[in-house]
Amino acid sequence: MKAVRLQSVGNLSVETVEKPVPGPNELLVKIEACGVCGTDRHILAGEFPSRPPVTLGHEFCGIVEAIGSGVSTVAIGARITGDPNISCGLCPQCRNGRVNLCHNLKAIGIQQDGGFAEYAIVPESQAYEIPLSLHPHHGAFCEPLACCLHGVDMAEIKPGSSVVILGGGVIGMLTVQLCKIAGATTIVMSTRQADKRHLAEEIGATHSIDPSQGNAIELLAGKNGLLPGGADVVIECAGVAETMMEAPKMARAGGTVVILGVMAAGEKIEIEPFDILFRELRVLGSFVNPFTHRRAADMIASGAVKVDKLISRTVGLEEAVEVISNPPRRGEIRVMVLPNAE
Ligand code: NAP
Repeated sequence: MKAVRLQSVGNLSVETVEKPVPGPNELLVKIEACGVCGTDRHILAGEFPSRPPVTLGHEFCGIVEAIGSGVSTVAIGARITGDPNISCGLCPQCRNGRVNLCHNLKAIGIQQDGGFAEYAIVPESQAYEIPLSLHPHHGAFCEPLACCLHGVDMAEIKPGSSVVILGGGVIGMLTVQLCKIAGATTIVMSTRQADKRHLAEEIGATHSIDPSQGNAIELLAGKNGLLPGGADVVIECAGVAETMMEAPKMARAGGTVVILGVMAAGEKIEIEPFDILFRELRVLGSFVNPFTHRRAADMIASGAVKVDKLISRTVGLEEAVEVISNPPRRGEIRVMVLPNAE
């Protein structure tokens, strides 16, 4: 079968490999769709730890084609979405229920073979069944949605809250919808591209700002801004220094900042500790998807979260290498890889 393999940092290509065979408690999944995530680009650039040689792709869904011995909760023919993050269950963090902080955390598509391939092996423990009636491309949004759900849970949004979301990629667009569902009444999207601002307003944002048109902090939290004094919650979804520094300045006193965006390990930004102390800000990191995958799958399956407009284009495995190796095209939200498309 064909698979997109990372041989080493910076070295990605399509290779022909053996079709895998499921072991005990494992599923063989025929991949229908697998999304290209910003993290795949960080992995290729060596900015996010992986374990090459490995097949990338951690946002996938597909049909169970075979099952190993001992599998009891999923049948052949079921459609599943995979939670890629595998925790050990034994370390102190796992035993305290913080599985995303597991000392031995590994992920399908990062440390072990993933979904940019015709087939993938998925442990039964990582599989979540979704309806066969669902559009297969939509199932591939369960993983990013589960990550956004964790961030929105941490933000503790209340009915009537005001929220600012920085960055109009897929993470920002899913977060907009979750904030609306959580009851926020003012939801501001800050992103530079006009098309993305329009889309954000179509799917739930009440306002949008263009941070390249002047001082974004003033536009938002200034005396004549959209939310004078700042927002109850600011969620950073861009992963760039500029928005990381803007986020605390856009929060009201006593407000919450959640960091979902990834900056490479070792990169630094300037912060003003006095401002965080004096205005009692809560600044929280949100890492992956602990116990949120089931809810995410249910929200996609029920149509509560809309993902159709977030798919910019679909490609095969050969083109996936070029997509992962380059920054997103202008206007692009999510590229979906279809490994088994004719
Ligand atoms: P993405 O497609 O790169 O989207 C980020 C967006 O940020 C871009 O579309 C860009 O849109 C906007 N942006 C860039 N500079 C900006 C600025 N100065 N002000 C406002 N907006 C700006 O990435 P994504 O897939 O949505 O992912 C977002 C981040 O989340 C990435 O760093 C990714 O690695 C991370 N992530 C984290 C988790 C987690 O568990 N925490 C899970 C998945 C992904 P414009 O050109 O319109 O500005």
